[in-house]
Amino acid sequence: MELTAACWRPSLMSPKALENPFRENPFRPSPPGDAPFWETKTLAQMSAAEWESLCDGCGRCCLIRFEDEESGDIVPTRVACKLLDGNTCQCTRYKHRKRYVPDCIKLTPKNVNELKWMPLSCAYRRINEGRGLASWHPLISGDPKSVEAAGISMKGQTISEAALEHPDDALEYQAYDLMGDGGD
Ligand code: SF4
Ligand code: SF4
Repeated sequence: MELTAACWRPSLMSPKALENPFRENPFRPSPPGDAPFWETKTLAQMSAAEWESLCDGCGRCCLIRFEDEESGDIVPTRVACKLLDGNTCQCTRYKHRKRYVPDCIKLTPKNVNELKWMPLSCAYRRINEGRGLASWHPLISGDPKSVEAAGISMKGQTISEAALEHPDDALEYQAYDLMGDGGD
């Protein structure tokens, strides 16, 4: 299998997204019974605040991936972008990240369909594919810790690419267990 050395990293980990007040969940419908925005709107129809609130801060999109040049298959790894804080799953240089990581891609409603390597568990991908949010998503559970409890968060489970001698060494940390959709 010929693997490209390329990897992709979407820049969803904005401090704004991670500061989102999941506990209060301001997007819960009122009165009870009304369908929430993630069930009634497309990604393109969402407000900036609604869009940001979809990010659960799992950190999976900031992991290094490889692509099989022949088949196009994605090889996931447990190796994180050098700017990811493995304990908080936050980008440590979000504002200036492009200076250090030029290939960091900003996810938008327009490109979400093209980024086939996005984790199946990612809320943006789930919504885009009509699969809805999982029960562990903070907008459903009301608890940001539910992402960790469900085993979706990458907190404490990554190795920084900065610790590798060569970028291709990331292949030694393949992690197909991260390919799941996170369930319902
Ligand atoms: S620079 Fe790295 S850590 Fe920061 S958002 Fe992009 S992929 Fe994630
Ligand atoms: S994979 Fe999706 S939900 Fe998780 S941090 Fe990245 S953008 Fe947010």
